Amino acid sequence: MLSEFDLIKRYFKRDRPAAPGSRTVLGIGDDCALLAPTPGKLLAVSSDMLVEDRHFFAGADPFLLGHKSLAVNLSDLAAMGAAPLGFTLALALPGADPAWLDGFSRGLFALADEHGCELVGGDTTRGPLNVCITIFGEVAPGRALRRDGARPGDDIWISGTLGDARLALAACRDEAGIDRAALDAAHGALAARRLHAPTPRVALGRLLAEGALARAALDISDGLVGDLGHILAASRVGAVLDVDALPAGPALARQPRALRRRFTAAGGDDYELCFTAPVAGRDAVLAAGAACATPVTRVGRIAAQPGLALVDADGAPLDLGLRGWDHFA
Ligand code: ADP
Ligand code: MG
Repeated sequence: MLSEFDLIKRYFKRDRPAAPGSRTVLGIGDDCALLAPTPGKLLAVSSDMLVEDRHFFAGADPFLLGHKSLAVNLSDLAAMGAAPLGFTLALALPGADPAWLDGFSRGLFALADEHGCELVGGDTTRGPLNVCITIFGEVAPGRALRRDGARPGDDIWISGTLGDARLALAACRDEAGIDRAALDAAHGALAARRLHAPTPRVALGRLLAEGALARAALDISDGLVGDLGHILAASRVGAVLDVDALPAGPALARQPRALRRRFTAAGGDDYELCFTAPVAGRDAVLAAGAACATPVTRVGRIAAQPGLALVDADGAPLDLGLRGWDHFA
């Protein structure tokens, strides 16, 4: 049986020289980690917890869970326009299962290395499976992509595509309304990948912040309509959202229109960025998307009048009866 300290040493402490440009002065092994942010920059800090049977199914693939645990945290940095520095991992485990720990740590470090984001500390305890990551990033003062900066007349943009993660969840739950023939093995796998291994849009967020291209932003975790509502509330504005302009994922794009509208507008688990930008900056936003190979799509307009109006491709009002996800509702 692995001791707590053997477990940390074997799976989470990596014996290798610091990566070039690393801001970790002291990593795992002392009472605190020591990080050295670039002088003059602000520290961006965020935590996200993943709980078994709430955020993932019991028996979830540990490699994918390692990826997703960090991806959702990197997505918060992306939504702020911050550059990743490092993260801590608080882990409750029912037991020390080497196969699980091996898969989990490989999935975690594969994504961490892709983003030059080091694991610098954490806590390990026995308990029902629960993964809580706190991530640290940095951003120049005045450049962070906050939720309260949207202004009437701004375009509303979405990165990547929406709804495939929700489609994968619907398929797992055998929900009604899915065209099963259109969701063949290949498209089912594409959708499942979006649910289990989301792509945090860190490069796009940084370009939007560094170029002062966006006025407000967040990452879409609980469904676009609900999450956009947070920008509208913080910025004290309203919006008109063209539901038929929302970019559906490749699997969802083959599904009936009713499902497409519902899952793009309020799917959840997308981890795409929703941001607002002045009309005069359209070409610069498109160039930023192209520079980091992340498609960006214009889907609506910020309005002075509070409230969110959903419209179809002809501009006619649409009532989809949607709400965002609320853990306590
Ligand atoms: P403390 O007694 O100060 O709480 P611990 O014994 O819990 O310290 O942890 C020892 C070291 O291992 C610390 O540097 C801590 O940050 C690190 N650590 C513990 N659990 C993890 C983990 N799951 N991932 C990364 N580092 C961890
Ligand atoms: Mg501890």
